[in-house]
Amino acid sequence: MREEAAVLDILQIPVLQDNYIYLAHDPVTRATAAVDPAEAAPVLAALDANGWTLTHILNTHHHWDHVGGNLTLKRETRCLVFGAERDRNDIPGLDVGLNEGDMVELGRSRAQVLAVPGHTQGHIAYWFRDDLALFCGDTLFAMGCGRLLGGTAEQMWHSLDRLRALPPDTRLYCAHEYTQTNGRFAVTLEPENPALTRRMEQVDEARRQGRPTVPSKLGEELATNPFLRPESAELQRTLGLEGAAPVRVFAEVRRRKDAFR
Ligand code: ZN
Ligand code: FE
Repeated sequence: MREEAAVLDILQIPVLQDNYIYLAHDPVTRATAAVDPAEAAPVLAALDANGWTLTHILNTHHHWDHVGGNLTLKRETRCLVFGAERDRNDIPGLDVGLNEGDMVELGRSRAQVLAVPGHTQGHIAYWFRDDLALFCGDTLFAMGCGRLLGGTAEQMWHSLDRLRALPPDTRLYCAHEYTQTNGRFAVTLEPENPALTRRMEQVDEARRQGRPTVPSKLGEELATNPFLRPESAELQRTLGLEGAAPVRVFAEVRRRKDAFR
């Protein structure tokens, strides 16, 4: 029988302007990963506060606000650095280069590597199936998605379409707190979507209280995130793209979001 129980304790560390670093810890084996450590100091402080020792760094892509802490953490803790093989020259201290379908062991848990190009060519996500946790970096955000800084709309749509197929209870640990701005844009596209209206009220309230809106569940995103909803009749109508192919609708949503202020 397949082991289904959640294994990992996941800790969320807000850093910089709006980034999140995650620590994922297996309390039995004490394996501990830092996902996208933008900075080293807040990670070292959190490790210290919990009595944890870093064993892994898991990078989703090579941007500085995801790898900035790599070298200091590696020096201080002797952890191993994991990231896309394709980003080998751009991820500081990379030890283990990963490709689509690879598995990363973290104590009793393990992550499947999903290649999700679009934000960058080498972007990967870490899918901890038994924990129903996805570390998706800058690919999928709460009510948004990453900008196309290295890949095409076709690639990004294909990546998001793959993520749509994960179980709806999957928690999405994305790397930025962009939810409120994303939501303001989303309501311009689907003003009549009741799930979206309701979610925006919750998000506004959370932000008023200084609470994170991340992680969200994939199921919520399927109901409210315009980048995952190219089949929505209302969205298509707003864009004047009734009956258009999902990739075409997606590309137009992305284009409009880039210009949204
Ligand atoms: Zn990025
Ligand atoms: Fe980022």
